[in-house]
Parts: sequence; C-alpha cells; structure tokens
Amino acid sequence: MVSRVIPVDDFDLVVFGATGDLARRKILPGLYRRFTAGQIPASARIIGAARTEQDDDAFRSDARAAICEFGGAPRDEARIDDFLNLLGYVAIDAKGEGGWSELKSRMRPGTVHAFYFSVAPALFGDIAERLATNGIADAESRVVVEKPFGRDLASARALNETLARHFTEAQIYRIDHYLGKETVQNLMAVRFANILFEPLWNSQYVDHVQITVAETVGVAGRGSYYDKSGAIRDMVQNHMMQLLCLIAMEPPYHFDPDAVRDEKLKVIRALQAVPPADIVRGQYRGADADYLTDAEDPNSRTESYVAMKVCISNWRWQGTPFYLRTGKKLRARTSEIAITFKEPPHSIFDDSGSPRANQLVIRLQPNEGMNLKVMIKEPGPGGMRLVQVPLDMSFADALGSDGADMPDAYERLIMDVIRGNQTLFMRGDEVEAAWAWTDPIIKAWEDGKHRPEPYDPGSSGPEEALRLMHRDNRRWREIRS
Ligand code: NAP
Repeated sequence: MVSRVIPVDDFDLVVFGATGDLARRKILPGLYRRFTAGQIPASARIIGAARTEQDDDAFRSDARAAICEFGGAPRDEARIDDFLNLLGYVAIDAKGEGGWSELKSRMRPGTVHAFYFSVAPALFGDIAERLATNGIADAESRVVVEKPFGRDLASARALNETLARHFTEAQIYRIDHYLGKETVQNLMAVRFANILFEPLWNSQYVDHVQITVAETVGVAGRGSYYDKSGAIRDMVQNHMMQLLCLIAMEPPYHFDPDAVRDEKLKVIRALQAVPPADIVRGQYRGADADYLTDAEDPNSRTESYVAMKVCISNWRWQGTPFYLRTGKKLRARTSEIAITFKEPPHSIFDDSGSPRANQLVIRLQPNEGMNLKVMIKEPGPGGMRLVQVPLDMSFADALGSDGADMPDAYERLIMDVIRGNQTLFMRGDEVEAAWAWTDPIIKAWEDGKHRPEPYDPGSSGPEEALRLMHRDNRRWREIRS
C-alpha cells in the first residue's frame, strides 16, 4: 500500500542551526523526501540560518551533500536541483544584531511561517526575542524546539517561560521524535480503533506491561554529551514516558491535540514516586567496550542502562505494574511493548503445561508489527493438551509495503508543524510533569554513593534487573531483534 500524500500549504520555514548535525542528517533530507513525495509546494521556501558566513549557493551545495548522504535512495539529481531552488541562507548570530533584517526581507506575507530552533537550548531565548523585536515572528508563527527540553524541572520551566514571553502554547511545537514514528501512532490506532482490546485494557485483566528500548550501540564518539544526560534523561523522561502514556491513557474524546495531551498528562500526574529498590542502573563495562572509556570520565556514575518498576495510581491501573528498561550496548536493537494478560481464572482442562497467559507484543522496531500469544490445542490424539502459539502480524506484510515510501518521524512532524497540528508534540505542562516525576529519582542518585551496576556489553543488562522481575515472580522478555 502506497502512503497517501496530502500537500501542505505554502510556507516559509527558517531552520536555525542549519549547518549543524541534526539539520544535515534529518531536517534537510527529510524535507527533500517530502518534496519528492509531492507534499511540499514548489513555491515553499526553506531558509537556513547559522553563524557560518556563506551565501545561498554554498548552503545549497552543503544541502546537496547532506541529501546525497542521508536522503536515501533513489537519488534523482533533477529533483534534488528542484528542491535546492527552495533553499536560501542568511548568516545570523543568535546573540548578535546582524542578519535579522535580511531574514525579515526574505519572509513572504500570507504564507505559513515556521521557525525551527535546531540549536542548543541556551539560544532559544535569544532567537525568540530577536524574532519578536525585529517583527519577524507574529501571532500566527510557529516555533519548533528540539530535545532535550531541560535537564530537570527547573530548567524545563525556565525554557517554557522563555518561550512563553514571545509565543503562546498554541505556537510551540516541542519535538519528541518518538511520537512521529509510524508504529508509535499505531499504538493509538490499535487501542482506540478496535473494540477487541479496550475492555481488557485494565488491571482486572492485565498482569503487567513491559516497555523495552534496547540499543546495540554504545556512547563512543558522543560520550561527553551523553555522560551529562544518562539513560533516564535521554530515554525515560521523554520517549519511554510517551510510550507509557499512550499505553496507559484513557481514550481521548477525539483525536485532537489537547484532548490527547490532556489524557497523557493525567497519566504522568498519576505516576507514583519510584522507590530506590524498584530501580536498577547499569553501565556497560567490558574489554571491548567500556562506558567509562567511552564517556571520557573514568569516574563517571552516569547510567547507560536503567530498569524500573512504575506504578500508576488510578482506577484503571492500580495493581498493574509497568516495567521499563532501556540501555546501550545490549544484545539486540529492539523497541517493543509487551502486555501480559492474567491467566484465565479457572482451567477446565487437566493440562498443567506451559504458560497460559495471553501476551500482546507491539513491536516498534525493527519488524514493526504485533504478536498475540494465544492458547490452542496441541495437535494429535491423546487428550486435550494445550500449547501457546503466536498470531503474528508484520505491518509491512499486512500493508504490502516495505515502508520505504513512509515518511520518517522528522518528515511527518515537520509537515504537522506546517499543517498546524500539535497532536504529536509535547505540551509544556506535560514536559514539566514528566520532569517533576523524574527529578527525585535523579536527585537520589546524585546524592547517593552507589555506582551503577556493571553489565557485559552484548548482554541483556545487569543481573540486578533480572532480580527486579524475579522478585515479583515475573520475567523480562528476551531482548532480540
Ligand atoms: P550541532 O551540530 O552542534 O549544530 C548546532 C548548530 O547551531 C550549528 O548549525 C551552528 O552553526 C548553530 N549555532 C551555534 N551557535 C549559534 C549562534 N550563536 N547563532 C546561530 N547559530 C548558532 O548541534 P545538532 O546536533 O545539530 O543539534 C541541534 C539541536 O538539536 C540541539 O538542541 C540538540 O540537542 C538537538 N538534537 C540533536 C539531535 C541530533 O541527532 N543531532 C537529536 C535530537 C536533538 P554555526 O556554528 O555556523 O553558527
């Protein structure tokens, strides 16, 4: 099935940080792909801005190189040329006064105006202020900001206040690229477009939920950045929190930005504080790969792995724990959500065999799809013996597509900005609530003397994490791709 393309309105998009890594790897190639898909009108303008002094042609030449490297196949030189015609560049120092009037002169009245802040958060305030004082942004303009949105509640609040001085909440698009993933949005489709699951989607029928985001890469090459963050800030507070919300939230009254975000916020506010005994931190330590070497700090206490048991205090989920784990240098690269249902209350069969609990696994990557474990009769004569088998569906097979024509998360999210749809962006109060829950966990680590547990690169994580589950008579699912 080929994905349907609905063209967006004409727009002027300014990318601050246009010479940076994110612009080169994701934003420019993503815009190019949407252009070739026919979603971006040929009249649209994309204006790069950064301190580097260069003219339009030099920027276009850089953009061509970025598209060739990261734009995917097939490469169509004529289409690349057409796309590059949309591009322009203005040299601007966010902290200086030069370049702003030129930027203003390039913006066309009557089009959608969006400003992508692909720069360090410390520059958000400078850019927002100069856009306002130079009369470049108005009440209709949109601003896109990147993660990390703060490193704790206080800094997230400060960022929100900075942006709020010049923009209303309806103008601010905080990116969590996880929300732009096709399969993450599928979580909502699976839950709210089917009658099948919702009646069972509560603590009466669900034993527990596991959310796993495992990576095989370490932090070598970006260790000094990662070491200031760690798994909880880099993954749990944002991406995994979003997955948890989509699984746990009540049905919104409509697929509408604030209706969805209101329900996610209620989940975050209902999260119980996590006691230290319910969290395991780890660091990969081995001869071939060692976090302490990669992090460039032999004494680092930053975690490259975290596992935790999270409880939600509301009617739906009271008594059903959510187990979260994420880490680097693990056995396989995989992201999945597994919902383990309770066993039937009474068995009419004399079979004392294998597990009976149904399990629904939603695979986010790789091999996106769903797998439902159901019990059937073991074939053959000799009585009623039961066996658990998977009902397995790969979205690619079911839709007859390898996903090559599907927009990636950044492409989809940038198009949503132009459309003015905030559903897949985090609201300010949501981000603050997530930090309010995460802060005490981080604070306890910073105050404590405990080091993260070591784990072997290529393993499933620290032994302690296994015990976190065994303690509750449960088991993690095997990490495999
Ligand atoms: P980067 O490679 O360091 O690029 C930073 C950009 O900001 C460059 O274009 C730089 O260009 C520009 N810049 C720096 N100081 C400036 C100033 N005073 N005025 C105007 N422009 C200035 O960073 P990045 O990796 O692209 O990341 C950008 C943002 O996205 C960060 O907030 C980051 O946390 C976030 N993010 C990045 C990724 C990723 O994969 N890279 C993923 C998620 C989030 P000049 O030096 O020419 O000014």
